[in-house]
Amino acid sequence: MKYCRFTFKGAARYGLVESSKGVERITHLLAIPPEQVGKLKSVPTEQIEPLPFLETPLLSPVQPSKIVCVGRNYRGHAAEMGNDVPKEPLLFFKPPSSLLEPGHDIRRPSISERVDHEAELGVIIAKRCHKLSPNEDVHPYILGYTAINDVSARDFQNKDGQWARAKGFDTFCPAGPLVTDEIDPWKGVSVGTRVNGQVRQQGNTRDFVFPLDALIHYISNIMTLMPGDLICTGTPEGVGPLVPGDVVEISVEGVGTLRNPVVSD
Ligand code: ZN
Repeated sequence: MKYCRFTFKGAARYGLVESSKGVERITHLLAIPPEQVGKLKSVPTEQIEPLPFLETPLLSPVQPSKIVCVGRNYRGHAAEMGNDVPKEPLLFFKPPSSLLEPGHDIRRPSISERVDHEAELGVIIAKRCHKLSPNEDVHPYILGYTAINDVSARDFQNKDGQWARAKGFDTFCPAGPLVTDEIDPWKGVSVGTRVNGQVRQQGNTRDFVFPLDALIHYISNIMTLMPGDLICTGTPEGVGPLVPGDVVEISVEGVGTLRNPVVSD
């Protein structure tokens, strides 16, 4: 199943996205936010007059209590930044206030000398996830997947010693355009970036340093993951700068394309 979040009759609602003959449409409203149910197939729906998905202004499909990010989870990216592959997952946060809707402007802060794109697979948590035991299956804790741009002010990341400022500006977490439970990151999902139509990043979740089950086990033994929380799983090699006037597109296979223009702050 695939769903998005959008404004319907003046209210933010979740909508089921279905394709027929290669065209995606929003065909049903979800009666309850899916993270309150924990399993997409159990969410009651209400049929509506179908809306063309690509032409409907969307909201961020996630409303997390926290955004937990993983650094250096692809060997190629660790190498291009001159870093070793970490021996255990390297975690940091982005604030929920950094979330940005599909299609809206990334506001590039003029005080930063370098702001980069980072294409990532986002994982949405289905239910409270606390201290998983080593062999516990993580699948029941995953609601679905989306595309994330972990926008990063690289100069501040290098300078500050921690990454709250570098990763935390408003608009630095574009998310969407939809959430799907129909992909399998363990088998391999392609994750990439185009800027102004030019390919900048092209990776695959098969190349994770720490697979998703290892990440969720690790995080759940540090902090309780709540329904709707978002995990950003790291970026493949090829990160590069964004300047005002650029249009950046993050593509995750099975999710689609998350497109945002870049403007100056
Ligand atoms: Zn990242």
